[in-house]
Amino acid sequence: MNFTYSALPMRVVFGAGSLDSLPGEISFLKLEKVLVLCGPRQEAVGVAVAEALGDRCAGLLPEATMHVPAEVAAKARRVAAELGADGCVAVGGGSAIGLGKAVALEHGLPVVAVPTTYAGSEMTPVWGLTENGVKRTGRDPKVLPVSVVYDPALTLTMPVSLAVTSGINAIAHAAEGLYAPDASPIVSLMARDGVRALITALPAIVEHPDDLDARAEALYGAWLCGAVLGATTMGLHHKLCHALGGTLNLPHSSTHTVVLPHVLAYNRVTEIAPVELWELEGRLGAPRSLRELGMAADDIDRIAGQVASATFPNPRPVTVPGVRDLLRAAWAGTPPAV
Ligand code: NAD
Repeated sequence: MNFTYSALPMRVVFGAGSLDSLPGEISFLKLEKVLVLCGPRQEAVGVAVAEALGDRCAGLLPEATMHVPAEVAAKARRVAAELGADGCVAVGGGSAIGLGKAVALEHGLPVVAVPTTYAGSEMTPVWGLTENGVKRTGRDPKVLPVSVVYDPALTLTMPVSLAVTSGINAIAHAAEGLYAPDASPIVSLMARDGVRALITALPAIVEHPDDLDARAEALYGAWLCGAVLGATTMGLHHKLCHALGGTLNLPHSSTHTVVLPHVLAYNRVTEIAPVELWELEGRLGAPRSLRELGMAADDIDRIAGQVASATFPNPRPVTVPGVRDLLRAAWAGTPPAV
């Protein structure tokens, strides 16, 4: 057994009602004037957070948008500077947390994340910015949130369809972390328990969307899977989803959901059985074809060429015909070819 493990600093407050501890968390971090960031659809949560922070809140910017457009990042950076903010509290999914990271990247302000989906961005030092339709990403330790408050109660409003696709998005991090070149025993433990938690919780959420215990189990799984994403280098699955999202603007978590069983089959993964995952997705009512997400069949060759010419680690060599066949099955919604 040979490995290198570099632990990321991780401060996590977890539990139903833990949003109440956010003001205490802000003072623990010695922050005095934070800018609260959220998306327009989650403004009510942003307002509640801002009110709970009282004097320690410098302002609220409810403008987070998918893939962090450069102009939104520029506005958030300007507002943070004008208000003299000494940190940001990002409340929401990957889009809101991504906006906090964009401010941190430029001004070095610490980010406190309050995740409301299972995307996992709060556990990674990876930032993304989109300009003229091109998304750039990079790693910088200063964008890693200094503290993460996971409150499952905030995820109760997440529509079941998003909970399912976001949960499978999280499973994808764990799946690729297990075969990553920089995998290590502790990260693999997190990956396995993250997958277990999500596979247990998602059917329970579909059956009883108000089941707070199931929502907590899923969020716990998402934390672990996000930590795996932050600790390892992703392979074909993430590269393919990045290309599909960035080039064709397909929705993030749904794209991950459709593609994952096919990549697992391509990579001959047995730890998470591809066909069983695909069947589970069917039972959970998740999308299973790229066609239903709006992809045109004509785009298959373009994406296959783009992905096969990129450099990234993967357990099996990535070829144009291989990716093309994988995408054809994912596009049509047929079972993964094992
Ligand atoms: P998102 O943040 O765009 O949220 C999707 C929608 O759901 C939004 O309209 C949001 O307002 C709404 N929503 C979120 N939580 C809700 C809740 N609890 N109740 C009701 N509505 C809710 O989507 P996402 O899937 O969380 O994140 C995707 C983005 O994050 C992508 O841009 C992706 O590239 C990025 N991401 C980055 C990293 C990283 O490490 N940098 C990791 C994962 C994802």
